[in-house]
Amino acid sequence: MCTICGWLYAEDRGLPEEDIRPGTHWDDVPEDFVCPECGAGEDWFQQLRIGD
Ligand SMILES: [Zn+2]
Repeated sequence: MCTICGWLYAEDRGLPEEDIRPGTHWDDVPEDFVCPECGAGEDWFQQLRIGD
């Protein structure tokens, strides 16, 4: 999740627009990934655990 704008990365959906395939774990997302909403880098992202 982006701590700046609240955009959420869903591993089961990926981000096809950025060539990140569905099922891609956050750890496997390229390091130069930036938030599609606000352009923040990975450093601004925080991992959320939903359910568990
Ligand atoms: Zn953002």
